[in-house]
Amino acid sequence: MTGHETSEAGDLRQRDRRISELERELAERKLAAQRTEQAIRDSATRYHQLFESTGDAIMLLGESGFFECNEATLRLFRCASHEEFLARHPSEFSPPFQPDGTDSRTAADARIQQAYRDGMTRFEWMHRRADGTDVMADVLLARVDLKDGSFLQAVVRDITEQKNVEQALRDARERLEQRVQERTAELAARNEELKREIADRKLAEEALAFERFLLTTLMNEAPSYVFFKDVNGRFLRISKTLAAHYGLPDPAAAIGKSDLDFYDAGRAEQYMEDEREIMRTGHMTVDMEQEQVGPAGRPIWLLTNKIPLHGSDGSILGTFGISHDITQRKQAEALLQHAKEEAEAASRAKSNFLANMSHEIRTPMNAIIGLTELVLDTDLSDTQRDYLTMVRDSGDVLLTLINDILDFSKIEAGKLELERVTFDIRECLGDTLKSLAVRAHAKGLELACEIRSGVPEWLVGDIGRLRQVVVNLVGNAIKFTETGEVLLAVDCDEPVGDAVLLRCSVSDSGIGIPGDKIDSIFNAFEQADNSTTRRFGGTGLGLAICSRLVEAMDGKIWVESAMGQGSTFRFTARLGVSASGPEPVAPRRRVVVEGTRVLVVDDNATNRRILFEMLTNWRMEPTVVAGVSDALLCLREAHELKRPFGLVLTDANMPVMDGFALAERIKQDRELGSTLIMMLTSGGRPGDVTRCEELGVSAYLLKPVKQSELFDAIALALGITSAEDEEEMAQQLVHLHPFGPLTILLAEDSLVNQKLAVGLLEKHGHWVLVAGDGREAVAAVQARSFDLILMDVQMPEMDGFDATAAIRAFERKSNSYTPIIAMTAHALKGDRQRCLEAGMDGYVAKPVRARELFDTMETVLGRSGRPVADAPASTPASTPATRRGRLVDWERSLVTTSGDEQLLKAVIAVFLEEFPKLLDEIRHALEQSDAELLCRAAHTLKSSLAAFGAASCVESAKSLEQMGREARFEQAPPLLAQLATDLPRVAAELAAYARET
Ligand code: ADP
Repeated sequence: MTGHETSEAGDLRQRDRRISELERELAERKLAAQRTEQAIRDSATRYHQLFESTGDAIMLLGESGFFECNEATLRLFRCASHEEFLARHPSEFSPPFQPDGTDSRTAADARIQQAYRDGMTRFEWMHRRADGTDVMADVLLARVDLKDGSFLQAVVRDITEQKNVEQALRDARERLEQRVQERTAELAARNEELKREIADRKLAEEALAFERFLLTTLMNEAPSYVFFKDVNGRFLRISKTLAAHYGLPDPAAAIGKSDLDFYDAGRAEQYMEDEREIMRTGHMTVDMEQEQVGPAGRPIWLLTNKIPLHGSDGSILGTFGISHDITQRKQAEALLQHAKEEAEAASRAKSNFLANMSHEIRTPMNAIIGLTELVLDTDLSDTQRDYLTMVRDSGDVLLTLINDILDFSKIEAGKLELERVTFDIRECLGDTLKSLAVRAHAKGLELACEIRSGVPEWLVGDIGRLRQVVVNLVGNAIKFTETGEVLLAVDCDEPVGDAVLLRCSVSDSGIGIPGDKIDSIFNAFEQADNSTTRRFGGTGLGLAICSRLVEAMDGKIWVESAMGQGSTFRFTARLGVSASGPEPVAPRRRVVVEGTRVLVVDDNATNRRILFEMLTNWRMEPTVVAGVSDALLCLREAHELKRPFGLVLTDANMPVMDGFALAERIKQDRELGSTLIMMLTSGGRPGDVTRCEELGVSAYLLKPVKQSELFDAIALALGITSAEDEEEMAQQLVHLHPFGPLTILLAEDSLVNQKLAVGLLEKHGHWVLVAGDGREAVAAVQARSFDLILMDVQMPEMDGFDATAAIRAFERKSNSYTPIIAMTAHALKGDRQRCLEAGMDGYVAKPVRARELFDTMETVLGRSGRPVADAPASTPASTPATRRGRLVDWERSLVTTSGDEQLLKAVIAVFLEEFPKLLDEIRHALEQSDAELLCRAAHTLKSSLAAFGAASCVESAKSLEQMGREARFEQAPPLLAQLATDLPRVAAELAAYARET
């Protein structure tokens, strides 16, 4: 062996070894590859198994969408096959928007980006399944990186259930929270309530404590006696003062005691009975006055209130009461009562004194004035006439003064009582102004009265007092005015119910009143200026009386005035309104004057206005002018236009040309000559009447003219009097000479007054028998019959009241009746009433004034039937007509029976039997409100009475008949009463005639 040989072999051997090594290595590698392959296969299998077996849906997402998914994916998305799933675009498996509102596609892109960027992302996602339903899922996106690129693996798990559970959990928590909140709120409220309750209780406790404090204070400090008692009359508590009154040191000592321990048995029993009564009835006793014996044995007075003590459940626990010691008050009252009685006695004495004084002064005044008037009627020299006129006028002034003083003291003594009568305001105030006109016209003043048409016709109140105020104010106005006019204007507010507030004013163009005096002139004895008083006279009482009277009429009085420019006094008065007057009046026959054109000529603007309003109210057509020339122009123009004036109403006294000149011009004018002219004058100028007659003036009226007067005059001038008017006028004519010679009994003790009355009466043709006292008067009446008795009230032996009573008693037996007129110097209120109550028919105050006396005679005789006017003027007593002619119109009666006296007597006999029955029927009809019976009975009565011409009774019966027809009963009773008084008188007269042979 060579080395060479040896190396070759070695090389071979080494190569062989290498080959085998390689072969071994290859085998190993093959095995390893096989093993790796197996491992990979195993891994793929494991992955696949995992891929399929997991419950989660797994899908692989590449650039162009899903490229692999497992079975769970198909189940989750409800796809039938892999192909169906993989064919869809991922966006199809989402709704357009996620529950939070984000756009699904944008959000999905963002998530995918995030997974690629971060390797993994996890989120919740709302998917939409193939069948359109939605499912909430948890999504895990994981990036899978391979050598040649990356894709995403999505693991999607249905979390609906989990979400539901979460929601349920959330709901449960919320409910729990809400419940907790509610409970908390409840607790807080309860807490508040408790706090409030505690606060309230605290307040209540404080109030209670305060009340206890008040009660204790009351019981300890009040000067009144306060007590509480149980049902048995035992004290529960008393005030300190009461304890002291009972002589107890401490109020507590009274507890359990009763009145028996403090009063005598009788009184205690009385008190306890009172309390039992209170508990029985539940009614308190108020202001009970109790007299007790005080400490020193002196009487004391307590004023006690006792009240039932109620428990909170309403049951009665006892009584409680409060008493005051009113001993001092009682003593003062007693003193006062005594003083009052003394004052009343003094006041009565004063009244009597006043009445007597009045009597004493009036009696001589009576003589002075009356006798002066008589002397004035005789032939006298001018000087004598002047002096006597002054005496009479001074007497008048004195009388006014006495009346004023009497009036004022009466008002001051609170004795003013207002009457309530129904009156026609226009008539009454018109008459009142007429009485003042003389004074106004004597000074050349215009006096006008304007009652607005809205003022009701019939008012109810004290016309006498109203008139007194007007007379005073107008009188003052005339007194303090030298030139110009005085105007009384009356208006009223709208009536309320049956009351109306009258507004009156009296304005003048006189001297005026200084501003600083305006308030004081209404005080008694106050005058604006003492120097004027000296010039004008007066007492300063007039306005004081006026203001009291106006106050009594619920009114006010005041004045507006400027020095030198005049004054306007205004007052209000509340009066009643009545639908009609006391007697039915014929309605103004307005229709007859309607449409007539009237030319009013007056220089005074106020008069023009008033006349214009009156005429317009009667629907006439007035034109007013201020002077004669205008009037003539107007008349001519109207004539040319063929609308002539029916009447010219002219003032007589006018500047430049007066009413007479106008009348003259008219009468001379050929065309206007026939125009009717009426003249308004202030009277006074002698010869006016004659001139009027000469000028053919149709009527001549005295200013201020009353509405009724003007109307009647116009109607008369226009020649349109109806039958009714004529009758009325005929009656008025009779009124001018109302009675024929009468037989009069004068009962009067004073010789002077006898002379005066006899003088007055005889001058008027009456026959007078004088009786010196009441007794003589009664004897005279028993001896013979009279037409009238004038009865002095104050006479010796038997006074006027007693004499009247005796005469009336006698007449009842003899079936006769004589009117009696009282004459009294008592001017005090109530006298008139007393006279009428005593059976007298009328009343005149002394001093007797002729006018007043004759007016009263007229009223009294007129009321009881109109006497025959033109009775033969032989010895009156023997004239049957005057003896009988009061209630029955004998002439008419005889005409009814064609002068057959026997027949008349027979008719009378029937009537005397019939009338009481008829009167009863009327009475019965009124009681039963039987309209038919009233109408029938009144009608029968009316017809019978008419036969005897018993005018006033006929009127009453006629009114009753009318009321029956209309079934109105309310105004019937006074008429019945009137008939019941009048009929027996008529009957007496008829019976007297029937007895005559
Ligand atoms: P007398 O009786 O003095 O007139 P009155 O009380 O009636 O008393 O009047 C008081 C005063 O008021 C009068 O004195 C007068 O100064 C003044 N007076 C009253 N009315 C008028 C008036 N119309 N014009 C001016 N002054 C008047």
